[in-house]
Amino acid sequence: MALATLTPERLTQLHSELKSSYEALKDRDLKLDLTRGKPSPAQLDLSADLLTIVGPDSYTSAEGTDTRNYGGLDGLVELREIFAELLNVPVDLLLAQGSSSLTLMYNTMSFAMLHGVSDQATPWIRSDNAPKILCPSPGYDRHFALCESLGIELVPVAMLDDGPDLEAVRALVANDPAVKGIWAVPAYSNPTGAVFGEDITRELLAMPTAADDFRIFWDNAYGLHHLTDDEAPVLDVLDIAAEAGHPDRVFIFASTSKMTFAGAGVSFWGSSPANVAWFKRHLAAQSIGPDKINQLRHARFFGDAAGVRAHMARHRAIIEPKFAIVHKVLEDRLGDSGVAHWSSPRGGYFVSLDVLPGTADRVVSLAKDVGVAMTPAGAAFPYGNDPEDKNIRIAPTMPTEDDVAVAIDVLATCVLLAAAEKLAA
Ligand code: PMP
Repeated sequence: MALATLTPERLTQLHSELKSSYEALKDRDLKLDLTRGKPSPAQLDLSADLLTIVGPDSYTSAEGTDTRNYGGLDGLVELREIFAELLNVPVDLLLAQGSSSLTLMYNTMSFAMLHGVSDQATPWIRSDNAPKILCPSPGYDRHFALCESLGIELVPVAMLDDGPDLEAVRALVANDPAVKGIWAVPAYSNPTGAVFGEDITRELLAMPTAADDFRIFWDNAYGLHHLTDDEAPVLDVLDIAAEAGHPDRVFIFASTSKMTFAGAGVSFWGSSPANVAWFKRHLAAQSIGPDKINQLRHARFFGDAAGVRAHMARHRAIIEPKFAIVHKVLEDRLGDSGVAHWSSPRGGYFVSLDVLPGTADRVVSLAKDVGVAMTPAGAAFPYGNDPEDKNIRIAPTMPTEDDVAVAIDVLATCVLLAAAEKLAA
């Protein structure tokens, strides 16, 4: 029933019923965790062969490189070839690096701050005003934390179903040269699962900006993580940007964190020829080269792009049922409540739940008190500040299916209780 339409008497009654159900949850001594988007042990097991595929007698790459030794800043070409095809980036413009793409994002941002985005450009840190980055929100909390730690101002813009609110973006970039860039998770964004429409992508790559050193941080973390057959396309954004007259506008990031081992995967960095030269120059001051043994493992394990796609289908088989459970329990418990809306992602790792404005923080704390850990409310917004206090991120991949069902059921009780409290107040 729609809570907002209940009579005051009925609402008070519902509130006390919900309160009793909630109090009963305390006796169950639950310990469930839906906080971070980690692969489950069953998913990690899919890549078990990585642990043995390179050994004391097999550490030479196809090109004849002894992967145990120094060198090769770009990363192993046989792995870059596989991901060049998948990420739609020419192989000579794609670097393979260490285990974390977030580190590459941090490096790219720090190089821009300290050195500027080219030899001619002013370091962002020396600009007249503190640099600003547009943050489509809800978005990825670590993107925001990264900028904050470097002293970059976070400017929220709304994330819509098919990408950032372009009208707001256009207005912000057009007149303010301190706006130096925007975060973009083009496929199955964290947390809403939004897939950028092609028109939005083209516009972001083409739009005029007051800053001539404006950059898009194109984090394609989930580009291959489909949950349905309606797969998001991976566009050739370098080519589109070049055609639009902004060849150096995009930095592309990706990794195998949620393909193989989240803590021991391979990250990728792609961009224009000028940007690749720029990035490598600064990278070379930091490292002699990445872990080629791990890259060799990954190249052998996947074999080719089709091998990656087949592997991702095996992930889908494990996690799709968990997303289906989230959807079903939310629908059963909250479908006609009028106080909750949630995303139905076609891929990625999250479901984004919007509850009655002003209650998200209360819902998360109610859930915590009965043993269900959720990401803090507001985490998906710059500075942790959800202006409407309504968004909650659900990360269902790590727990078992049974635990997901219980945790979402508890969450639904908390959503209803918090809403009834607020409406009755
Ligand atoms: N980007 C996004 C959008 C993510 O959700 C995550 C992981 N949660 C990352 C990057 C982290 O990537 P990596 O493990 O390669 O550092």
